[in-house]
Amino acid sequence: MLEVRDLRFAYPGGAPVLNGVSLTVAPGLWLAVLGPNGSGKTTLLDLMLGLRRPQGGSVLLEGRDLRAWSAAERGRRLAYLPQNSPYPAGLSVLEIVRLGRLPHLGLWSREGPEDEAAVSWAMRVTETKELANRELGELSGGERQRVMLARALAQRPRYLILDEPTNHLDLHHQAALLRLLGRLAGKGIGIISVFHDPNHALAAGRALLLMKGEVADAGTPERVVTGPAFREVYSGDVSVLHGGARVAVLPRWSEVER
Ligand code: ADP
Repeated sequence: MLEVRDLRFAYPGGAPVLNGVSLTVAPGLWLAVLGPNGSGKTTLLDLMLGLRRPQGGSVLLEGRDLRAWSAAERGRRLAYLPQNSPYPAGLSVLEIVRLGRLPHLGLWSREGPEDEAAVSWAMRVTETKELANRELGELSGGERQRVMLARALAQRPRYLILDEPTNHLDLHHQAALLRLLGRLAGKGIGIISVFHDPNHALAAGRALLLMKGEVADAGTPERVVTGPAFREVYSGDVSVLHGGARVAVLPRWSEVER
């Protein structure tokens, strides 16, 4: 279980950014976090990764405070795909994905068949095998995003945290990523992903709406994006379309839309 309990945080000299946020990601659950710019999403992820220290509340990984785990222990359980990953220059895609195995390797141990299998699987499911010998710097933003996801998956994490993972991706790769996250959750991985586009959150199992550092709503994604809190946090500029069994959310730019 990855648990956030009553999390509170403010940057030095600033107003509170997180005001008592609680959430739970069980193995196999995919939680999408939504919220307007500045609502605290990135800060929440930073705290969930142990990159910042909470001023109140706690983040528990399998019942133990996140900051009590060593970096390697944490790396074997938790993987992170940031929005803009820094990456070392001069390495091939294959070498970068292999870096994902570092938390599993002892100081002196060599890569074994398990490491090879994890790297091969991660590259297959992210459709990055054909990029293996390329350098990251020469790839498009979307290709780079998929490579960094492959590296995160090569860690074989129990929990995967993604910050706007569909950015830079074309429609096929957005769909492929959403399907892949669904499959990973089906295999028992706990996923928490921030989405800019609320339509992408509809692929998740649950959604949480953040507003000014508080949970404004939580529930099934369809209920959250069609609910009154969602409309309110976006100042009413939300148009909900119903088409067959699907719902879609668009910005409302004309007065005749409802
Ligand atoms: P979101 O990811 O939802 O856009 P953030 O967590 O990035 O929100 O930001 C929440 C609030 O915290 C914003 O008001 C932002 O200006 C502020 N903030 C973010 N990072 C810092 C920082 N490093 N120092 C001071 N204030 C920050």
